[in-house]
This record gives sequence, structure tokens and C-alpha cells, in this order.
Amino acid sequence: MVATENIQGKTLFCCGECGMKYRDREWAEKCEEWCKTHQSCNIEIIAHAVEEKSAFPAREE
Ligand SMILES: [Zn+2]
Repeated sequence: MVATENIQGKTLFCCGECGMKYRDREWAEKCEEWCKTHQSCNIEIIAHAVEEKSAFPAREE
């Protein structure tokens, strides 16, 4: 099931299978469908995933 995550006021949607995060629920659902069916990730779908690092730059410490 697609989970939502709130990080720094932004909502991301996570694929419940592989944990990839998306800005759009639509993509998270597509990813999850694919992951369940194929037990692998679709490169064209995960291209839409957000990298937490780039979406939310880590603070240098
Ligand atoms: Zn997935």
C-alpha cells in the first residue's frame, strides 16, 4: 500500500514494495503495481522517483 510521508512540509508517496518515494501518488501506485507483479523495479517508473538527498539536501555537519 502506498504510504505518505511528510518531510519538511512536503508530502511524498512511498511505494510499499520497494520504498521508492514519489511526489505524485500516481507514480507511487504505478511503482507498487509493477513491483508486486514483477518483483523488480521498472527503470522508467523509478526515473520519476525523488531522491531524498536531492529533494531535501542534507545539512553539512
Ligand atoms: Zn516500487
